[in-house]
Amino acid sequence: MDYCKVYLKPKKEESLLRLHPWVFSGAIQSIAGSPEEGDLVAVYGSNNRFLAVGHYQIGSIMVRILSFTERTINAGFWEERIGAAYQLRQSLGLVNTPTNNTYRLIHGEGDSLPGLVIDVYAGTAVVQAHSAGMHYARHQVADALKEVLGDNLQHIYYKSEATLPYKANLGSEDGYLYGGHPDEVALENGLRFYVDWLKGQKTGFFVDQRENRSLLEHYSKDRSVLNMFCYTGGFSFYAMRGGAELVHSVDSSAKAIHLTNKNVELNFPGDERHQAFAEDAFKFLDKAGENYNLIILDPPAFAKHKNVLRNALQGYRKLNAIAFEKIRPGGIIFTFSCSQVVSKENFRLAVFSAAAQSGRNVRILYQLTQPADHPVNIYHPEGEYLKGLVLYVE
Ligand code: SAH
Repeated sequence: MDYCKVYLKPKKEESLLRLHPWVFSGAIQSIAGSPEEGDLVAVYGSNNRFLAVGHYQIGSIMVRILSFTERTINAGFWEERIGAAYQLRQSLGLVNTPTNNTYRLIHGEGDSLPGLVIDVYAGTAVVQAHSAGMHYARHQVADALKEVLGDNLQHIYYKSEATLPYKANLGSEDGYLYGGHPDEVALENGLRFYVDWLKGQKTGFFVDQRENRSLLEHYSKDRSVLNMFCYTGGFSFYAMRGGAELVHSVDSSAKAIHLTNKNVELNFPGDERHQAFAEDAFKFLDKAGENYNLIILDPPAFAKHKNVLRNALQGYRKLNAIAFEKIRPGGIIFTFSCSQVVSKENFRLAVFSAAAQSGRNVRILYQLTQPADHPVNIYHPEGEYLKGLVLYVE
């Protein structure tokens, strides 16, 4: 192991000793040598005590920890980490079962690989790097994926143009690292859908709502469903399978609506219960009558940084207030926030304010979160980001 050494200020080693995987710039006393962004570095505390190995990057988080034991980060390391993650997904019953081949394989810190996200859609792994170090490691990651997944993997698509730190100027280009041009359809809980990892949002699909969609299915029978911010229609197919009377899907992206229609056709050809609208959510809601008794609100992250938290909470309050105003008596609302900086408490407070404004009787039926293939490292509570409430409105 021959990495540049990063020395921490006295007393700043506490968080690493508690296995938190980030070193902030303010904790660093000195750096021996001059590491480049993305290089591996070894972190030391007082008395020259070894603490961890990680990826170096310029910014508020300076080191993302890969290992708390002294070791070389080589092919064996990647196979071990990706192998452990794969084993967990297999034990969760998500890998290539007759009804499911869509899952998150690597969830950053939750799988002890900060800066890396990998989603699997049938035989394709979509790899997303959020740090310079993971960008440079992409070929090693691809080799380990091939080794661990074997015949279950035919294609690896690298998609990091939008997620890598802009300032690092890495010149990354999205493209296949292995295979290419798959034309498969992915399978989630027995429902089929096209995933557009080339042009779609994130890695192509929002895998994190799988279990919440399943729950919705059980409450859809004979209901009139409004799926706001539907993206490629995830919640809509579950509602249809659950026996909804009608399903309206709304998203401001015309591309997303195009794919929603294709996906509905794939699962329920010729089914006239479904209609999709490429429109702004607030405009659609403003003119919607009181037609619905099941509403899903799954907006994009309203706050990406702490300094816009207030506005974000106002946004959640406003959006939920319209839903409370419009929903028919005896209706159910599935409402979500995927902003990491919005806490469970703050989100609940925003929804509470919206309910209070409507003056209606509202009960919380479920409190939802992200599924088990998006695990939260217990030493890194920041990894918990998805929050949802299922509400019964009288
Ligand atoms: N519920 C989806 C994921 C939603 S992601 C699923 O289960 O897959 C958020 C979506 O909100 C994106 O598709 C984005 O295009 C859409 N969006 C963003 N702003 C919007 C707006 N003002 N009105 C309607 N849709 C919007």
